[in-house]
Amino acid sequence: MAHGINTAALDAEVCVLHITGMDRAALYQEWDRTLKDQELTQHNIFISRRLSGEPVAYITGHKEFMSLDFCVDKSVLIPRPETELLVEKALEIMPPLPFIVDVGTGSGAIAVSLAYYNREARVFAIDRSLAALAVARDNCIRHSVSDRVELQPGDLLQPLVGSAPAGAVDLIAANLPYVAEGDLLELPGEVRMFEPRLALAGGRDGLAHYRRLIPQAIACLKEGGYLLMEIGFDQGPRARGIFDPQFWAVQIQPDLAGLDRLVVARYKGAGKHFI
Ligand code: GLN
Repeated sequence: MAHGINTAALDAEVCVLHITGMDRAALYQEWDRTLKDQELTQHNIFISRRLSGEPVAYITGHKEFMSLDFCVDKSVLIPRPETELLVEKALEIMPPLPFIVDVGTGSGAIAVSLAYYNREARVFAIDRSLAALAVARDNCIRHSVSDRVELQPGDLLQPLVGSAPAGAVDLIAANLPYVAEGDLLELPGEVRMFEPRLALAGGRDGLAHYRRLIPQAIACLKEGGYLLMEIGFDQGPRARGIFDPQFWAVQIQPDLAGLDRLVVARYKGAGKHFI
């Protein structure tokens, strides 16, 4: 560990790959090649930004998610590996020709992955940040899914509620800000100082946005449709408690680390019980 950065060796490698444009195989073959002057200047800038705590993904402007390369900038949260669980679950349970909504899309990582891996899917992706939607638009173009992903500015599901497609939604994917107010200061410096607070802060217990989302989801989902929500490791029981069991069948799923991470809630439909 150097300067408190416990991924120093990996970060240095990503830095060299980024500035030389080499892939990993080329780097190992030409391990003794010296950097050109211009590359060295870029290298020094990269290292000083990294030493200030800036995450590698913001320095390179890229992050891999679901084996796809996504553009990122400081207006969006960096896609996390644990969020792949939500995408994989959604791909597994979605019906044929699904109409999906990704609420709080940020970089578009979830929306683009769903459209990329299910060529029949139509996705409506919403974010209240116009800067984030610009990043999402780039990512849609980059992965050739712009014809099936519609981007909309707005708060939660507001752009849909009351419109024609409401009531036609098969699945809502939500990785909304879920960090509890009291935990914001405890986040690692890299996250706290560089990632957008708007994409992290979830009110007093972290579930404030999800509480507002649920009634809107009822207005948008088909009977039997799904609401998938990413949560923090300590939010499982409380997250279950914000659903009315009369209308929802709720499961909490762990991530690869065995920690509560995903709420899979199936909308039973008003008054109908088929589960
Ligand atoms: N998982 C993020 C973290 O590192 C939080 C993401 C979110 O609030 N949606 O804390």
